[in-house]
Amino acid sequence: MSQPWLELAESTHCFGFPYEIGRQEGSTPVETFVNGDFPPLRFIRAAPQPAVIETAHRRGIAVVSYQTFYGAKLDSPGPWPPSLAERPELAIFDRRGVRQRTIFADGAYGLEDQCELCPNCPEVVEGAVAAAVEMAATGIDGLFLDCAFGYNPCHGEALRVHDHLYSEKDIAGIPARELKFTPDIDTPNDDALGLYAFAQLLRRVRQAVEAIKPGFVLIANTCCWPFRYSRAPLRKTVLFAPSWRRRTPRVLWATLDGEMVESFMVLPRKLLDPASDELTTQRWQPWDEWRASITLPAGLAGKRQIVLPYFGTDGDRDMAFFVYATAKLGDAIWETSRRTAGGEFIGLELGRPLAPPETQGAAWLRRFDRGAVAVNPAEQVAEVEVNLAAPEAMDLYAKEIVSLPGERLRVSLPARSGKIWQAL
Ligand SMILES: [Zn+2]
Repeated sequence: MSQPWLELAESTHCFGFPYEIGRQEGSTPVETFVNGDFPPLRFIRAAPQPAVIETAHRRGIAVVSYQTFYGAKLDSPGPWPPSLAERPELAIFDRRGVRQRTIFADGAYGLEDQCELCPNCPEVVEGAVAAAVEMAATGIDGLFLDCAFGYNPCHGEALRVHDHLYSEKDIAGIPARELKFTPDIDTPNDDALGLYAFAQLLRRVRQAVEAIKPGFVLIANTCCWPFRYSRAPLRKTVLFAPSWRRRTPRVLWATLDGEMVESFMVLPRKLLDPASDELTTQRWQPWDEWRASITLPAGLAGKRQIVLPYFGTDGDRDMAFFVYATAKLGDAIWETSRRTAGGEFIGLELGRPLAPPETQGAAWLRRFDRGAVAVNPAEQVAEVEVNLAAPEAMDLYAKEIVSLPGERLRVSLPARSGKIWQAL
């Protein structure tokens, strides 16, 4: 059952404010983010401290807290994530009996000993459910589950290190496209049985939290763009730009209310180029891929996606309009830091989509009950007609009011650009 606040949410602030808010007594006061420079966001990230939850709820803001079931370290504090020094058997084991390190272990994060936790192991499932129940009991509205991008195969049961709840027999009749992010090829973190087991873990979590708080939502960060630790010429993390299409499998959607599409359309150059340390904003992946990635398959009505573009520091406003207008073609929830180019769209409300996206030549348009967006992904100028169904609207790019003689507005869209109108 989806929640009205999730159906209506247009922007979030998962990462935009200091992480320590609400995390400890004496840290940044609640008022800083609900009073300060924050618009009436309907969805935030905060640790479940009673004062944070109470104040946010009073102001109509849902509190969705961070959690991950993906990895643990030797010195993880426990009970969740468990300490691998005390419970080494809970990790995923490769066929040689070596614990599977996470995709973060090779980066410069201080996570060298972080290993994947086996979602097929009964004790891991029990621990994850208990952690979710503890958080739900604080009165929060949902969990944002980071690192829900799949697992590598686990040989723990064959090695008699731990038991497994599910085996290949359980997934024998299920097509690969229902189970895997990349059903046609083998890629890292895409084990069908592991994803099936993780989906069952999420189902258990949902049952348990639903009993405490009906309508509790689960939103997962399903994105994993494989990266590597580059030693030369600069020692740093660099993303591979994968050439394969990656889509969240239905087995996960069955238990999720929403997902995050991270690194949406843009990244700082330093994350793409091993020779660069620049924070200038770069587009990556073909535009059609991004549009497809925010087009949910049929049957998932009411579920939402959050896009998280990584703008650099160069404040490219044109690119921000292009990225935001593209995100709205999929009615995605906007997430970015207020300090970046896309920050001006935090709190912007265009309302509910009135129809699916439409095309006019190479351009794409979508109407909402309080506005419209248009995107031209092509290398040539596109001429479009926009139906705003409003006598007056604000052209947010030009920052001017447009009065419409009829209801149609003729617009010239530059190459690779986006326009946004808000009905007045
Ligand atoms: Zn296992």
